[in-house]
Amino acid sequence: MTRVPDDDQQYDLATWAVHAGQEPEPITGAIMPPIFQTSTYVQPRFGEHTGFEYARTRNPTRDALERNIAVLEGATHGFAFASGMAATEAVLKLLSAGDHVVSGENVYGGTHRLMVQVLERFGMQFTFVDARDPAHFEAAITPATKMFFVETPTNPMMRIADLGAIGSIAAARDLYFVVDNTFASPIFQRPLALGANIVVHSTTKFLNGHSDMVGGAVVTSLDDVADRLAFMQNAAGAVPGPFDCWLALRGIKTLALRMRQHDANGRRIALWLAEHPRVKQVYYPGLPDHPQHELACVQMEGFGGMISFDLGSIDGARRMVEATRLFSLAESLGGVESLIGHPATMTHASVPKELRESMGLSLGLVRISVGIENCDDLLADLEQALAQE
Ligand SMILES: *Cc1c(COP(=O)(O)O)cnc(C)c1O
Repeated sequence: MTRVPDDDQQYDLATWAVHAGQEPEPITGAIMPPIFQTSTYVQPRFGEHTGFEYARTRNPTRDALERNIAVLEGATHGFAFASGMAATEAVLKLLSAGDHVVSGENVYGGTHRLMVQVLERFGMQFTFVDARDPAHFEAAITPATKMFFVETPTNPMMRIADLGAIGSIAAARDLYFVVDNTFASPIFQRPLALGANIVVHSTTKFLNGHSDMVGGAVVTSLDDVADRLAFMQNAAGAVPGPFDCWLALRGIKTLALRMRQHDANGRRIALWLAEHPRVKQVYYPGLPDHPQHELACVQMEGFGGMISFDLGSIDGARRMVEATRLFSLAESLGGVESLIGHPATMTHASVPKELRESMGLSLGLVRISVGIENCDDLLADLEQALAQE
């Protein structure tokens, strides 16, 4: 467990991203946190240790990353995990057999799979609701409900959940309210300030931002939850290695800069797609005709570079994703390079067909993660790909 040191400085997030959790290394003054590539730590004498006993429990490189992400999200405690799914699993395991979770239906495909195909076997119960209407959360509550779980904007439909409204329902019942903040990142949305009490990240995506590691994180300001998450890191052991922590820390230093460029490119490309005759519909919360545009403007400080659009048929989608040159056909998102994917057969293949269809996740849907390249180059690439017959 890593407790954020009390610091009364009120820096901007761009400044915290560079500095939070990091101090010059005491022996040499190295400005970058070293990669503490060790499994154990020598104890000075019987019954004494330095605060570090074994690297599953704690590692100084991991500590720095945990403090950094906690500060960015405005939390007092941070925990790093080996992947976003490991982070989500640790949070869901705060609960026990018989407990009930109300989850947004349009969560990451792997999150849905973890809930239904793994945790239901251990007696946990899940109800999936359309998270656009907070009343659906209230209506789904049972005497066994312990947690709400939400993603916003959602992947890939870019729906928005009203974190303040859902947060008040959770607070009235003393429930855990978990938000997966992977898509917005703390630069554009800070769920703890809006009503959530636990935030989950896939650091694989925007936080690291360079598509060169897989990792996850959980932050909270609830001391009892923090104790149990620290216990879970040690007891279950899904912790990241120090090199991956170091990569994530280095990536986060440029998070604010990168998010600004993802956002500028994303806004321009979404507007351009919305005008294109081959595109049936664009899903992007920054477009004024997105049904929840106003809510997005209130709760987010930017819209980022995630855009989905419908080309009407699987053939249209296939032609497009095979024709782009700068946009690489790949799973994942949030890196400096632009990616393109087909959710129905890739990231969301594990979501049941009926649920996919009811959400509008059609076979013609294409999702792009707009990188930080020059926007004219990206538009030219999309243009030539959409011109393919
Ligand atoms: C990728 C992703 C995850 C899972 O994270 P991994 O690091 O791939 O395990 C969870 N939630 C969202 C929103 C994601 O995009």
